[in-house]
Formats: sequence, C-alpha cells, structure tokens
Amino acid sequence: MSTRRPLFLAAALVFWAWSAKAESKVGARPVPATRSKTTSPVGPPPGRGRTTVGKPTHVAATRTPRVRNPTVELFQVNRKETLILRLKDDKGRPVKGLQRRFDQFSRCHYTNVVHPMNPRLVKMLYEVGKHWPGKRIEVFSGYRHPNVAKNPHSPHMQGLACDFRVNGIANTELRDYLRKTFERVGVGYYPNSSFVHLDARKDRSAFWIDYSGPGERAMYSAAPDEDLKSGRSERFKPEKIDPSWATQDEEKEEPTGSEAAPSEAPRVPEQSPSGGGTEDRAGSGAGSP
Ligand SMILES: [Zn+2]
Repeated sequence: MSTRRPLFLAAALVFWAWSAKAESKVGARPVPATRSKTTSPVGPPPGRGRTTVGKPTHVAATRTPRVRNPTVELFQVNRKETLILRLKDDKGRPVKGLQRRFDQFSRCHYTNVVHPMNPRLVKMLYEVGKHWPGKRIEVFSGYRHPNVAKNPHSPHMQGLACDFRVNGIANTELRDYLRKTFERVGVGYYPNSSFVHLDARKDRSAFWIDYSGPGERAMYSAAPDEDLKSGRSERFKPEKIDPSWATQDEEKEEPTGSEAAPSEAPRVPEQSPSGGGTEDRAGSGAGSP
C-alpha cells in the first residue's frame, strides 16, 4: 500500500494544477470561497453587463451619475421636431440662444408664426424634464396665433402656455406634480384628452378640469378639487368619445375655449419676454410651411 501513496499525491498535484489553470481561463468553474474574490476573472457578473442599447431611459435613471446641468428632450408631436433643452452648460454658464430656439420650437403649428414665449415657462418645462430623467416631454401646443386661438383670453395667444405630456408618465401624476411644484401657474387637466396645460401667470395659481375630449366643446368641472377627491375626475365621461380622436388629435385644434376660465385668464404677460439679454429675436420670423 505504501508504494501507492506517492503516486496518489502526484495525481492529486496534477489535478490541482490543471484545475487552477482551467479556472483562470474559463472563470465559470466553482472555486473555493476563500479564493473566489482574488481569482475570479475581472468583469461584470452575468446579467449586469454594460450593454445599454434599447434601454437608455433605464440607464439614465439608475446608472448615470448626477449631471450638473442635464439635458431635457422636448418633442413637438405635430411637427415631429425635437429641441434639446439645457439652461446652463457644464461650467454653469447660461446657454446662448436658448430662448430664441424655444420660441421657434413653440411657434404656432397652424400658421408657423413665432412669438416670444414667457421665459419662466421654459424654465418650468426644464424642471419637469429633470424631474423625470430620460423621459421625453411631448408638446402638443405652445403659441397660438389669434387667427386660430378661438378663446380671446387664451394664454397660448400670449406665449404663456404649453400643452404637453411626459412620455411614460400618467397625466394625473404630471398634473399633481405641476400643482405642487410651481407657483403662479395655471394647470388644466383634460382627463379625456392626452395632455396637461401649464401656463405662467402673474398672480395666484389656478386649476381646472375640462372633461371635453378633442374637438368637443369645453366642459369645465364646477368643483375640480372635489372631483379629484371623489374620483369623479377619472370616471366622468360627459359624452361618447369618438375613438378616432387619437389619430385626429394632431391635426385639430383643442376644444374651443378650453383654456382657463375667463376670470382666471391672464391678460398681460407675467414679465417682459424680451428682457432676456442674450436672445435676439430679430431673425425669428415665421418660417415657411
Ligand atoms: Zn392649453
């Protein structure tokens, strides 16, 4: 028996050497717990790879370190235009031409007329975008020319308002966020349409619910906050909604007079839109269709 012991030891040694080599090559072999940390191959464990194609929003939300002045994407759904919004650059300097580009982006999508937009409005939209990193802000309507803004008091006609939604975020959530985050704003909730209205105003804030669907006459809630509490805001369907509205919406004006109740509508811009310093609006005339 004693003659077999060296042979056994040699075999064991060969096996050990082989297993160590195989382990360093493959890395998938189970290793003793005491050695696993130092001998495991370098790299992310399975399922946590670095590939990000197709999931940019997830990555932005969970992995990207906090950027000081991140960009926010605005998308005009009627014209399929994109505006990448950033108020300040890496060094904290104001981005030049921002207001001019926002004015252009927010131009009337019926007439292509450009109008100065309220500077606070763009800042609020930027805040909204930062609140949901990686989510696109989808704009339905910004400025409206008097020829198409049927409500004579519409804040859209003064460059104070924007109708939009945030991709992937419920409009109920967006509505509540706007109301609790910003002061001196009008927030309009359209449970039977696809956007939330936001406008900058001079004094106190206003909130309303309009139950009309696209293309229908405005139907305001008499007690919007009560409707939110009772859940009526999500249940009440005043008329049968034409299912084709979803595709027609982009070509249609939203309901006549659907903006703020007349008593709430601001009549003068909250602040001088031209007081911005770096903007030059001289060249921002109407583009050709
Ligand atoms: Zn609106």
